Amino acid sequence: MIQAVMTSPGVIEYRDIPRPLLSENEVLIEIKRIGICGSDIHVFHGLHPYTSYPIVQGHEVSGIVADLGPEVEHVAVGDKVTFTPQVTCGQCYPCLHGMYHICESLKVMGFQANGAAQELFAVDADTVLRIPDHISLDHAAMIEPISVAVHALSRGGDVEGKNVLVLGAGTIGNLVAQVAKALEARAVLITDIREYRLAKALQCGIDYAVNPTGQDLATAIRRDLGPDRADLILECVGAQATIDDAVANARKGTTVVVVGVFGQKPRVDLGLVQDRELSLVGTLMYQKRDYERAIELVAGGQLCLEPMITHHVRFTEYLSAYQTIEEANGKSMKVMVVLD
Ligand SMILES: [Zn+2]
Ligand SMILES: [Zn+2]
Repeated sequence: MIQAVMTSPGVIEYRDIPRPLLSENEVLIEIKRIGICGSDIHVFHGLHPYTSYPIVQGHEVSGIVADLGPEVEHVAVGDKVTFTPQVTCGQCYPCLHGMYHICESLKVMGFQANGAAQELFAVDADTVLRIPDHISLDHAAMIEPISVAVHALSRGGDVEGKNVLVLGAGTIGNLVAQVAKALEARAVLITDIREYRLAKALQCGIDYAVNPTGQDLATAIRRDLGPDRADLILECVGAQATIDDAVANARKGTTVVVVGVFGQKPRVDLGLVQDRELSLVGTLMYQKRDYERAIELVAGGQLCLEPMITHHVRFTEYLSAYQTIEEANGKSMKVMVVLD
């Protein structure tokens, strides 16, 4: 079977490797879709600080169960599935206290452990979740980024009835905003400096979309969310300007969730955090329960995913995923690698 290996930044080699052997509690998945995200793009460019080469990419995945170890009971051959791409130690403080997603030795498939960019992939059965038949393979591969959004919102407390401000309308920002709506936020305002992304957000049903380079954000927040402004703010970019926007536009007592990954150390006005009694909280990835919630949301038709999947490329032309993203020049969202 064929495996796509990134041997160095920007270079993918196809290797013919033996079919994986299954241990007792493993599931063999025939991989069908692999979503490409911003972290993959960093790996492609050699800019991911915690990835070395060679590496097999692929962490936003859907597929069909091809075989089972003898102890596996919760899925069957032929089931549509996805899996959580985390490898954890099971022994550190977070692992022993229900927070394995922030394991001290966390390895993420596609970055510090090999991912699923191959025809058949064996994973621990505990990480595998069944996807209802009516969910498409494309949408099933979106469960991973949706789970990022579900977990991020859980870090901000109860969303129902709240005014939510989401800074950044890329895939994660868009999904955070959509999940906030699905969790019955009162109103959701999203920002981005790219009109393309704002148009996508509106197409996906987000209430308000604002380009802060074209209008004053503080004014827009009062206009769209009302005088009480935002109860919950999610920074989904990882840039100085957006963490500034988050803290500067927080009302007293607002919670700011830091979702974006910061390449450079930002300066944060901690004086405002103190004086306004802000809650500034981080969020990393997800747990299996976030996947379960994400699957429920998709199964219930509560998210609008179709406009977000902008391109498909073939597995045999993996590199063209990155070329497509570059050529789209900001006008792409989720690129799916397809295996038939
Ligand atoms: Zn991703
Ligand atoms: Zn651990």
